[in-house]
Amino acid sequence: VQAIAYIALGSNLGDSRRTVLRAMERLQELSGQPLVKSSLLETTPVDCPPGSPNFVNAAVGLVPRAGETPESLLAKLQQLEREFGRTAKKILNEARPLDLDLIAFGNETRATPELTLPHLRAHLRRFVLEPLAEIAPNLVLAGQGSSVVELLRQLTSGEVVRRLQ
Ligand code: AMP
Repeated sequence: VQAIAYIALGSNLGDSRRTVLRAMERLQELSGQPLVKSSLLETTPVDCPPGSPNFVNAAVGLVPRAGETPESLLAKLQQLEREFGRTAKKILNEARPLDLDLIAFGNETRATPELTLPHLRAHLRRFVLEPLAEIAPNLVLAGQGSSVVELLRQLTSGEVVRRLQ
């Protein structure tokens, strides 16, 4: 079985729906197989400055190409964020045209500031788990005892506003 990398997409600046769809097209180029895509969700901001716009969130699964590592994939995700107009952040969790988080890369684990795998807060966030549950309901993130759907069921917060497509 080929390892799958799961990526969470978010945007709350500009034409977010279009940005997320275009970012998915770019992510397809990094995958050896057709991308597995969730629908787009509109969600309310979590841990963001007051007055932050709603987000459009989604998740995709890709099959990394030969030789790709978590580090090389993260570098490509950060390059894409910049391409979509992301600048160095001044305020924590300020509005951004595109945020790409590497949620998991097969069963790889990392624990550095540059890269934590699985992503540190993924299992606590509805805006990550909800789209992830559409494409990988039975995925168990390394270090978690429960699958994505089970984690989702345990959540009490309710950020998801509606499904966009
Ligand atoms: P953010 O503002 O959420 O995009 O945070 C990006 C920072 O988190 C970068 O400095 C990354 O090096 C770091 N980071 C650590 N683990 C991850 C991960 N799994 N996916 C994306 N960024 C990560």
